[in-house]
Amino acid sequence: MGAVACAETDMDMTLENLERHWMPFTNNREFKREPRLFVRASGMHYWTATGRKVLDGSSGLFTSAAGHCRPEIATAVAQQLQTLDFTPSFMRGHPGAFALADGVAALTPPGLDHVFFCNSGSEAVDTAMKIALAYHLARNEGQRSYFVSRERAYHGVLHLRHTLLPENRLTRGLGRTGAELADDLSRFVNLVGEKRIAAVFVEPIAGSTGVLVPPRGYLERLREISTRYGILLVFDEVICGFGRTGEPFAATSFGVTPDIITMAKALTNGAQPMGAVAVRDSIYRTIVDAAPDGAPEFFHGYTYSAHPAACAAGLATLEIYRSEQLFAKGRELSGYFLDAMFALQDLPAVSDVRGFGMLAGIEIKPGKAPGVRGGELQAKLFDRGLHVKTTGDVAIMAPAFIASRADIDLMGSMLREAIAEY
Ligand code: PLP
Repeated sequence: MGAVACAETDMDMTLENLERHWMPFTNNREFKREPRLFVRASGMHYWTATGRKVLDGSSGLFTSAAGHCRPEIATAVAQQLQTLDFTPSFMRGHPGAFALADGVAALTPPGLDHVFFCNSGSEAVDTAMKIALAYHLARNEGQRSYFVSRERAYHGVLHLRHTLLPENRLTRGLGRTGAELADDLSRFVNLVGEKRIAAVFVEPIAGSTGVLVPPRGYLERLREISTRYGILLVFDEVICGFGRTGEPFAATSFGVTPDIITMAKALTNGAQPMGAVAVRDSIYRTIVDAAPDGAPEFFHGYTYSAHPAACAAGLATLEIYRSEQLFAKGRELSGYFLDAMFALQDLPAVSDVRGFGMLAGIEIKPGKAPGVRGGELQAKLFDRGLHVKTTGDVAIMAPAFIASRADIDLMGSMLREAIAEY
C-alpha cells in the first residue's frame, strides 16, 4: 500500500509502512489494504486521517462513556506525570491509589469495599481468579481449582450454556425464558464434586459477544446456587460497569450482589489503561488475616498496578460522572436509545435486537459465512460516518452518556441505511 498522510495531527505524520504493527482482533490484511485510521477525537466524534468526522456509536470500545478528550482528565494526567510519574506498586504507594479505591468502593454494591488495581480487563479477570484460589486456600479448601464460565463470554474454562434463546428474540430488557439455565452450575457441581469449584464468572450482560441480556431470574439463581456450594460469584463488569446499565454497576441494576466485580474500560474513560477488582470484605479479610506477618499476604501484582497517571485519570473520570450526573443521564436517554435500536427490527436483514440501558445489539442474518456481513457492515458504517464495534453479525451499540437525541437519531438512520442494503 502507499503512504498514509495523517493531515490532522500536530505531528504531520506520514505512515510509510503499516506492516510492522500486528494489530489485535483485526483483519490485518484488510486494514492494511484500506486503513481506517483515527487521528483526533472530541466529544461524540472521531476524525480520520483524511479529515472526515465519524460519530462514535460504541464509546470507542465501551471505554469513553463521558465522551472523548475530556480536558479535565488530560490535565489531571499531565499534572500527575509532572509531579510523580511512577511509584513502585509493591511495598510503596501514592495517595491517588487510595483515593481512587475509595471512589470505586463508593460505587460498588455495599460490602464490596476492597479494590485491587491492574491494567486491563484481562488482568482484572486473572486477578479475580487468583483471589478466588487464595481465598479458598486460606480456608483450607485449596482443592477448589475449577473455574466455571459461560458460553459466548469473554472467558475460557468449563462453560455454562449461554442464555441467547430464540424464545426471547426481540425482547427489550430481560428475557422471559431461561432462568433454569443457571442450573447448569449445579450440574457441574455434581460432575466435578461439591468442593472443587472455586468461582463462576459471568458478565451480567454478555457485551462483546453480542449483548446477551440475562433472562429474568437467571442471575438470582446463579447467586443462590453459588452460595449453596461455597462458589464465589464473579461479575465481569468490564463492559457493564460505570453506568452502562443505568446504575454504577449492573449488580445494582439487577439487584444481585456478587462476591467479586471486575472492571476496566470506563474506569478511566479509556484515557489510561486500567482495570480493577472489587472484593467482599470477608474475602479480603480471609486472605490478609490468614497470612503470616512480615510478608505480602497475596503474592500477586503488576509493575503498573495503580499507576499514578491511571489513578489521576480514574479520579478525574469519577468526578465527571458525579458532577455531570452522567449515569442518570444515560438512564434517562436509555428509553430513547432503545426505541431507536428496536425500530430497526422491521428491516428484512435484522434477525434480532437486544438491549438494556445504553447497550444494544442489532443482529443481522449471516451472509456466506458467519461474521462476514458483520465485518462488512462496520466498514460500510465507517464509510458513512459511524464507528460501531461488531462481533460476528451483531452491531454493538454503546453510545457515550453525553449523546444527544440527535446523535441517537443519526445512529439509527445510518444503521437503517446500511442494513437496508442487505
Ligand atoms: N472482560 C470483558 C467482559 C470484556 O469485554 C473484555 C474486553 O472487551 C475483557 C474482559 C478484557 O479486557 P481488556 O481488553 O481490557 O484486557
